[in-house]
Amino acid sequence: MRVLFVASELYPLVKTGGLADVCGALPLALAQQRFDVRALIPAYPGVLDGLRSPVTRLRMDPLFGGAVRVVAGLTETGAHVFALDAPHLFARKGNPYVGPDGRDWPDNHLRFGALSWMAREIGLGRLGDWRPDIVHAHDWQAGLAPAYLALSRDRRPATVITIHNIAFQGLFPADTLTPLRLPQSAFTPEGVEYHGKVGFLKAGLHYADQITTVSPTYAREIQTPEFGEGLDGLLRHRARQLTGIVNGIDAGKWNPAADGSIAARYTATKPEGKGANKAALQSRLGLQVNAGAPLFCVISRMSAQKGLDLLLANLPTLLAGGGQLAVLGNGDANLETGFRNAMTANPGRIGGVIGYDEPLAHLMQAGADVIVVPSRFEPCGLTQLYGLRYGTLPLVARLGGLADTVIDANEAAMHDGVATGFQFAPVTAEALGNAFTRVFELYARKDAWRQVVHRAMTRKVGWQEPAEKYAALYRSLAPPDAV
Ligand code: ADP
Repeated sequence: MRVLFVASELYPLVKTGGLADVCGALPLALAQQRFDVRALIPAYPGVLDGLRSPVTRLRMDPLFGGAVRVVAGLTETGAHVFALDAPHLFARKGNPYVGPDGRDWPDNHLRFGALSWMAREIGLGRLGDWRPDIVHAHDWQAGLAPAYLALSRDRRPATVITIHNIAFQGLFPADTLTPLRLPQSAFTPEGVEYHGKVGFLKAGLHYADQITTVSPTYAREIQTPEFGEGLDGLLRHRARQLTGIVNGIDAGKWNPAADGSIAARYTATKPEGKGANKAALQSRLGLQVNAGAPLFCVISRMSAQKGLDLLLANLPTLLAGGGQLAVLGNGDANLETGFRNAMTANPGRIGGVIGYDEPLAHLMQAGADVIVVPSRFEPCGLTQLYGLRYGTLPLVARLGGLADTVIDANEAAMHDGVATGFQFAPVTAEALGNAFTRVFELYARKDAWRQVVHRAMTRKVGWQEPAEKYAALYRSLAPPDAV
C-alpha cells in the first residue's frame, strides 16, 4: 500500500519540533510493515543537498507565482522524500515559518498552499507510476491537501490528517481564497471557512476522511472547549472519525544500553549503572553526591504549557523530603529567573542549566530517579517516554499523552505489578505536592521502587506499535485492491 505523507518538517532534513521526529521515524517503521511511504516536504535551503540519489520527477509551471519541481530522493536514514522545490516560496534563510524578523512569512498561505496543492497533484496520479492509496497530512501546513482532494472531481485517494499541535491553525484572510485556488463555494462553515477566515487546519479537519492525534486522551480532550482551541465543536461532530495514536520514540538514540552521552550503560536486567550516572549527574551539576537522595529532574521548554510554575511552588516540599532537583530548560524569562534563583538559594540541592543541551538531557534521563512533567496540556509528550526507557520514573499530570503512557503507582497498580510512575490531578500545585509525598514513600521502599523501575524500562516505547496502529487505520480506509 502506498502512503503519501505531507508535512512541513522531517528529521533529519528539517526540524523545529516533534512533528519532524514523527515524520522522520514513522515512515521507516511503516516500511517494516511493507508500506511504501513517501513524504512530500518543502525544499527549504539545504534540503536538496541532504537528499541521496536526487531525481527530478515532475515540473510544473507556474504554481502560486513561480516554476516548481518535485525532486525524489532518500534521507540519510533511508526515508523516501519528495522535495517540493519552489525557490520563490522556500529558498530563503530563516525558519520554515518565520523570517529573520521573527514574524510569520507574509506568504505562508501560498507556501503551504503550494505544498498541499502538490499533494493533490501526486494524489491524483500526476507522478504516473507512483500513485498513493492514502494521503496523510500533518498539522495545519498540510491542512488544505484533504480539501483540495475532496474538492476535485477525480478519483482520489483516502485522506488522513494528524493534529500534532492544535494551537497552530493556519488562519488567513478571506481574500486568499482565490489565490489558493479554492472555489468560492467552499468558503462556508461547511468548508474551509473559520470565522470569516480561511482555516487550513479547520479545512483539513472538515475534509479528511479520518482524523488522528497523538494520544487517545488528547483526542478526547480536544473535543472540549478547554482544550479544543475553538475547534472542539467540529471535532465533536467528527468524533467517530477521530482517534489517538501515541507517538513512539527513537529507541536507537534513547537507549541506556548504548548511549554515548551517559557515564555508564545499563539495562533493565542489569540496572546497576544507573547509580554511576546519578553520581556523575550530581557532580556535574554541583549537587551533593548522595546515592540516597531522591533526585528529580526536569527537561523542558519553560512555557506556561509545561506547568513549571507548579514545580517552583513545590520546591519547599521537594527539599523537605530530602530530594534534589536537576533542571534543564529555557524559555519564559520569569520561569528561567525562578529556577536560577532556586539554584542560587539551594546550592548542592538544586542545580542545572538554563539552556538547551542535548547530551545533558541524556545524562539527566540516565542519572535522575524521577522526571517531573506537570504540563497543563500535552498532546503526547516525549520526555516521560524517555524516562520510562531509562528507568527514571515519570511524575506526570494526568492528561493528554501523559495519562496514556504512565501507569500511576496506586495501590491497585502496585498490587497488579503494572505501575510505571506517578500521576497527579487536577493540575494544581497542591496535587503535585501530594504526589511528591507519594514519591518519597515509594522511594523509601527500595524493592518496590526497583520493581517499578524494571517495569518502566521494559515497557514498549518504540515505533513498532504505533506503526501497527497507523497500518490498521490505513487498511480500513484504502480501497480493497490496494496491497
Ligand atoms: P514539546 O515538543 O512540547 O517541547 P516534548 O516532550 O514532546 O515537548 O518534546 C521535548 C523534546 O525536547 C524532548 O526530546 C526533550 O528532551 C527536548 N528538550 C526540551 N528542552 C530541552 C533542553 N533544554 N535541552 C535539551 N533537550 C530539551
